[in-house]
Amino acid sequence: MKTVDKDLCVGCGACESTCPVGAIAVGDDGKAECSDACVECGACEAGCPVGAIS
Ligand code: SF4
Ligand code: SF4
Repeated sequence: MKTVDKDLCVGCGACESTCPVGAIAVGDDGKAECSDACVECGACEAGCPVGAIS
């Protein structure tokens, strides 16, 4: 499961679009959040434009 730094996240939604298993999504607060459905593929981390995912 990935951690999103909410101070860095700009809510662009790139991670949500990229995730193959729908494990990460932008919430009502405009920040992405990762669920335990994550399979640690790393795609969201690689695609985040601000490096908010680790
Ligand atoms: S690491 Fe992969 S499976 Fe996990 S949230 Fe990111 S894109 Fe989805
Ligand atoms: S790709 Fe990065 S900046 Fe965009 S919503 Fe996901 S965590 Fe936030």
